[in-house]
Amino acid sequence: MAGKVYIVGAGPGAADLLTLRAATLLRAATIVLHDDLVPAEILALCPASAQIVNVGKRCGRHGRSQEQINALMVWHARETEAQTIVRLKSGDPAVFGRLGEELDALRHAGVEFEIVPGVTAASAAAAAAKITLTDRRSASALVVVTAHNARNESLSKALVEPARSTYAVYMPGPDYGGTVKGLVESGYEPATPCAVVSHAGRADEEVRYLTLAELALVKGITAPALLIVGEVARRSQPGTDIDLPNMLDGPSHHIDGNDPGIPAISLQP
Ligand code: SAH
Repeated sequence: MAGKVYIVGAGPGAADLLTLRAATLLRAATIVLHDDLVPAEILALCPASAQIVNVGKRCGRHGRSQEQINALMVWHARETEAQTIVRLKSGDPAVFGRLGEELDALRHAGVEFEIVPGVTAASAAAAAAKITLTDRRSASALVVVTAHNARNESLSKALVEPARSTYAVYMPGPDYGGTVKGLVESGYEPATPCAVVSHAGRADEEVRYLTLAELALVKGITAPALLIVGEVARRSQPGTDIDLPNMLDGPSHHIDGNDPGIPAISLQP
């Protein structure tokens, strides 16, 4: 039976800021592929039988390329006995974690996956500083940006261009028409993709992939809901399958000192 990949948020680094769902998965893990920022305290939750691999960029001579990490997840899910493959990323895995490339690889390979959110650094930092990110008296927006983006663009560009930004809109309803109007007036095209998520993370969660124009007309979105606006919300289509034998070409060698048995894998174009 093929394994499942759990992309798990490790939170900001304290084990007691892990979610219970994350801790449960770590305790059941067959293999854990983790980034540098994940501390030993959290990895200590994994069973002794689990294979733990640091695939972090800072992992010295053993640092893995993004393509190798993608291929490792796919390989473990499809070609080994591993059932619970945990891809452990710091904070929330969907915030500046290169998750997009990893999801594309899993979708293309037809590997089942689930994302487990975590406490992102912004939340942890605000808690440490004893401030609120959105004091209603002074801030009605929280824009999450990186000073290091893939295009080497300046921060100002990311801030002012709706076409290059993601908005996470809290409290978007019940007047979705009014919310859409405000977004279009800020420069968003009515055809911009968006995802509106009711009861996120709960058993009865509901996700709708729409355009802003469609959102203005839709009925029956239950609260609480969060609206994500921007190109990132375009519904991903599962792609064609990767030719796995090609991916497995190449010599075997170590991932790191803990893990002598994993072959080097590269994705072929
Ligand atoms: N997915 C992560 C972010 C990864 S990008 C998250 O949701 O938090 C890595 C950056 O996150 C770091 O350069 C730093 O800016 C920030 N970061 C991660 N953990 C942090 C921590 N414990 N305290 C402060 N900043 C942190």
